[in-house]
Amino acid sequence: FLIDVGKGSVALHSENFSPVVLGDFTTRLPKAGETILGQKFFIGFGGKGANQCVQSARLGAKTSLICKVSADLLLDCTFVGQTADAVTGTASIIVNSEGQNVIVIVPGANLLLNSEDLKRASDIICKSKVVVCQLEITPAVSLEALKMARASGVKTLFNPAPALADLDPEFYTHSDIFCCNETEAEILTGIPVGNLEDAEKVGRMLLERGCKLVIVTLGAEGCMMISVEEPIPKHVPAEKVRAVDTTGAGDSFVGALAFYLAYYPELPMEEMVRKSNYIASVSVQASGTQSSYPYRKDLPQDLF
Ligand code: ADP
Repeated sequence: FLIDVGKGSVALHSENFSPVVLGDFTTRLPKAGETILGQKFFIGFGGKGANQCVQSARLGAKTSLICKVSADLLLDCTFVGQTADAVTGTASIIVNSEGQNVIVIVPGANLLLNSEDLKRASDIICKSKVVVCQLEITPAVSLEALKMARASGVKTLFNPAPALADLDPEFYTHSDIFCCNETEAEILTGIPVGNLEDAEKVGRMLLERGCKLVIVTLGAEGCMMISVEEPIPKHVPAEKVRAVDTTGAGDSFVGALAFYLAYYPELPMEEMVRKSNYIASVSVQASGTQSSYPYRKDLPQDLF
């Protein structure tokens, strides 16, 4: 998704067209072939790009989302392509009473987003302040969007999720900020991230691969950041809160960070990360993904 897209562009409310997330709550996760009873079922909106876009918009950013959905949805499609050839992407999530989950993603129409769609959106990509990409679309298309942005001097924030062990190395060199969580970090580097030291190792390795600035999110521990300019790793702790549901915390963090990069570019990066930690820590105190993301008006005003 893109933020602060300049005059004349249309800000979309992605809640209206996001791919769908179905959630089931059970006491435990079913084994293969097993049927078990669940306690609760809900349908929400999602997709990493849409989540990140919504969090950024709720903080006040002017946002746009480039994606593709099935033609059976009634939408404002300024930058949302439709296709008759696939269903809208879905994610089925089962959550047990310990908060652990299993997720099955069917990307559907997302995988049909292509270079032509990017070309149609090139004006908005190249006039944005920040372009944020993930891997819920075809990786080559995501990389192409990052390259288009870079070529126009637009800041790029890349969230390698869901992670790929054989990520194209150009992703590292085309991301101004490379932001991953512990699991993604492990898939990318082979280093299991159990503590801050591991995260620092990962950060150094990703800098060597060509990233300018790496952020590894560490759940309740906050984040580790390291950059070419400041190669001494920095731990930015999160707020101590009672977490109810951490689903989508990473997307809340990325959306908030994109907001600060676009609207407060003069802030030191550590300060942006601290504020984004705060916003993500608010999101874990309510259930759901987009439904738990705070609005600017409900946050302490010293965040702005
Ligand atoms: P993901 O949702 O991708 O797994 P993380 O679990 O690392 O990402 O969480 C992203 C961010 O959300 C963290 O860096 C932190 O700011 C915040 N966060 C996550 N879990 C908690 C928690 N239990 N308490 C406070 N903040 C949290």
